[in-house]
Amino acid sequence: MTGHEHVTDVLVVGGGPAATWAALKAARAGASVVLADKGYCGTSGSTAAGGTGVWYVPPEPAAREAAMASREGLGGYLADRRWMTRVLDETYGAINELATEGRYPFPTGPDGRPLRNGLQGPEYMRRMRIRVRRAGVRVLDHSPVTELLTDADGAVAGAAGYRRQAREHYRVRAGAVVLATGGCAFLSGALGTNTNTGDGALFAAEAGAELSGMEFSNAYGIAPEGTSVTKTAFYSFATFYREDGEVLEGAASQGGRSAIARELLTGAKVYARLDRADPTAQAAMRLAQPNFFLTFDRLGIDPFTERFAVTLLAEGTVRGTGGIRITGDDCATAVPGLYAAGDAATREDICGGFTGGGSHNAAWAISSGSWAGRGAAAHALSLGSGRAAHRPVTGAGGAGLRPTGAPGPAGGHREAVELVQAHVLPYDKNYLRRGDVLGDSLRTLDGAWDELRGSLHGEGADLVKARQAAAMTAHARWMYAAALARPESRGMARRLDHPEQDPGLHHRITVGGLDRVWTRAEAAA
Ligand SMILES: Cc1cc2nc3c(=O)[nH]c(=O)nc-3n(C[C@H](O)[C@H](O)[C@H](O)COP(=O)(O)OP(=O)(O)OC[C@H]3O[C@@H](n4cnc5c(N)ncnc54)[C@H](O)[C@@H]3O)c2cc1C
Repeated sequence: MTGHEHVTDVLVVGGGPAATWAALKAARAGASVVLADKGYCGTSGSTAAGGTGVWYVPPEPAAREAAMASREGLGGYLADRRWMTRVLDETYGAINELATEGRYPFPTGPDGRPLRNGLQGPEYMRRMRIRVRRAGVRVLDHSPVTELLTDADGAVAGAAGYRRQAREHYRVRAGAVVLATGGCAFLSGALGTNTNTGDGALFAAEAGAELSGMEFSNAYGIAPEGTSVTKTAFYSFATFYREDGEVLEGAASQGGRSAIARELLTGAKVYARLDRADPTAQAAMRLAQPNFFLTFDRLGIDPFTERFAVTLLAEGTVRGTGGIRITGDDCATAVPGLYAAGDAATREDICGGFTGGGSHNAAWAISSGSWAGRGAAAHALSLGSGRAAHRPVTGAGGAGLRPTGAPGPAGGHREAVELVQAHVLPYDKNYLRRGDVLGDSLRTLDGAWDELRGSLHGEGADLVKARQAAAMTAHARWMYAAALARPESRGMARRLDHPEQDPGLHHRITVGGLDRVWTRAEAAA
C-alpha cells in the first residue's frame, strides 16, 4: 500500500481524555505507544471545548456512600457498586496526580482547601497532551482511523487511517488497540462533538465486538438558540418562558426538558433567564465555567436579567451511557487485542441508564482510559517483541470502504448523513419516544444501511466522511433496536407508550450486528 506504516505495542485511537489517559498509562507500563486523533489532540473531543465536573469524591465512607446512592435510582438500578467503587478510587488518584505531577492549577475554596471536582477543558487537555508527549507517545494529529486491522485469528492487530494534512493513507501495526473515539452526537452541532460520529463503535462491531446500553442514547443539551453551547449545569437556575412572556409550565433543566421539546415542536420559541441565581451564585458561576458566559458577553446579553431563546441539541451517546460492551476489569472487549474507553465504551457499570450532569462521564474517561491503557500494554507485551510487526493483517472495515455492489456517486455520504439525522435529531422521534415511531425509523434506517453497504464509498478525506456516515447509521440502528427491546421507562430511555418502569425488565440490553441487528437481555449486577 502507499503511505506510511508504523509499528507499536499499543495504538490508541482518539485524542480526548480517555485516549490521553490510556496512552499515558500504556507508556508508563513499558509499551511503545502511538496515539492517532481525528482532530488535534488537546483541542478535539467534547471535553476540550468546554470543561467538566468530575466525580471526585474523597475516600470518606459516608461521602462515598452518598455519591453512589444518589445515582442509583436515576440510572434505573442498572449500575454496579463494584465498578462505582473502582472508578471513585481510580479517579481520586488520577485527579490528585494531575494536580501534583501535571501541575493542573485547581482553584482553592474559601476554607483554603483545593477544589478538585471540576476541570476547564482547554487547560486540562493542553496538559494531557504535554504529559502524553513527555511519556514518549507518538502523536498523529489530524489522522482519523478508518478501520481496524485483524490477524488470522481475528485478534485486533492495528488500524488504518488517513492523514489529512499530508493527504496520505497510513497503517499502524500494533499488539493491541484502545478505542477512545468518544460517543456519537450525529453532527448535531453540540459543543465539541464535531468529531464524535461513533466511529469506534462501528470499528469494534466490524471486528466482532458487542454494544450495551444503546437505548440510553437520547441526551439533548440546552443551548442558547443559534449556538453550540450545550453546557447545561447552570440552567438549574433558570426559569423558562413562552413567547408571550408567560412561564412555561413544567419546563426545567432536570426533569422538565420534555416540556421545552414539546413547545419547540409547535414551532414556537422558548426563552430562558437565569433569574434564580443570587449575586453570590452568579459570581461563583462565572468563576466555575467562564466559557459558558462567552456567548452572552459577545451578544451583549445579561443571562441573569434578560431572556434569551434556547433550543435543544442532540448529544446522543456523548452524554448517554451506551457504547462498546466491555468484558473485563481492564476494559477489554469480546475481541482479543481490543480495548474500549471513555464515551466509546458503555458507562452502564457506573451510571446505569442515566449520566446527565453527574460528572460520571469525566471520571469514567479517566478511569477506563487508564485501565484500558494498562490492559492493552500488558496484552501487547505478552505477545512478545516482533509479533506486531510481522503477523499478516487484513482490514476489517466494510460499509463506506468496501461496497458490496457497484460504487455509487462521489459524495454519497451527505445523503446518508441527512437521512440518519432526519431520524435521530427530531424531538418527536428520539426524545419523546414511542414504539411505533421508533419502529418506522428503524425500518427506514435498516433500508438505508443496506443501500449504503452496497454502494457508499469515498476517496481520501471523503473516505473518512463515508465511514462517519456508516458509523452514524449503525449507531442509530443499535439505539432504536435497543429502545424497542425496552418497552418501559428506565433511566433516560423513556417511552411515552410505556411510561412506567417494569420490574420484569431489570436487565441490560446487549446489541450487535451490522447487516442484521440483534438484541439480547443480559443480567444486571
Ligand atoms: C457540552 C458538554 C458538557 C459536558 N459536561 C460534562 C460534565 O460536566 N461532566 C461529565 O462527566 N461529562 C460531561 N460531558 C461529557 C464529557 O465531555 C465526555 O464524557 C468526555 O469528553 C469523554 O471523553 P472521551 O475521551 O471518551 O471522548 P471525547 O472527549 O469526545 O474525545 C473523543 C476523541 O476521539 C477522536 N476521534 C473520533 N473519531 C476518531 C477516529 N475515527 N480516529 C481517530 N480519532 C477519532 C476525537 O477527535 C476526540 O479526540 C459533557 C459533554 C458535552 C458535550
